[in-house]
Amino acid sequence: MAVSILVVEDEPAIQELISLNLKRAGHVVFSAYNAEQAKLHINNVLPDLVLLDWMLPDITGIEFARKLRKEERTKGIPIIMLTARIQENDKIAGLEAGADDYITKPFSPRELIARIKAVLRRRLPEMSDEILELGGLKLDPTTHRVHASLNNESTKSVEVNLGPTEFRLLHFLMAYKERVHTRAQLLDRVWGDHVFIEDRTVDVHIRRLRKILEAIGKDSLIQTVRGTGYRFSIEHSEERIE
Ligand code: CA
Repeated sequence: MAVSILVVEDEPAIQELISLNLKRAGHVVFSAYNAEQAKLHINNVLPDLVLLDWMLPDITGIEFARKLRKEERTKGIPIIMLTARIQENDKIAGLEAGADDYITKPFSPRELIARIKAVLRRRLPEMSDEILELGGLKLDPTTHRVHASLNNESTKSVEVNLGPTEFRLLHFLMAYKERVHTRAQLLDRVWGDHVFIEDRTVDVHIRRLRKILEAIGKDSLIQTVRGTGYRFSIEHSEERIE
């Protein structure tokens, strides 16, 4: 899955070098040369990750990271700090400001890509291309295919045909297995930022997903948690039907 990354860096040569390497790795890249530009971009479109230089012309990267962590809409965004500083105190200040990781300049493109991958795997597992196998379902994010094993025999499997929204929904729920998500959280993370649709839409797609899974006897994997939302669970649940 293409990940969108906002690179906040005031030095044009470094900005260009980073952008080039991220694009080569298959990411969608946006550039900002100061915190103000970055803020404008984020107000418009929320990126999946922010690469944030420590020393910026308007406010420091640390201050900007703190601002992002304070706001409801941006508090969960993964942040990697770029810094030329190597002192231990600065690294700790960066992490305390809410950064997920930091990279010390100069760094190699390979290190950058690897760090981004590690942060995304930890923070946004639904963005990972890793194949998920749970409860007899095997979901492959690269091919967009889902297979279900029948009668607990992994050799016998059938392909499960899902629409694009049901696929994303299932991928998200499987990536965060056993965790309960509210309808608002699902809208934010599965449908995307700035999408103004009703909570009810989530229920409609959950119903469709269950119906497809029901045909292969796997609908109990998608559980309703009364008054809260939905979860993917391989444990038996008493209250899965609304
Ligand atoms: Ca700088």
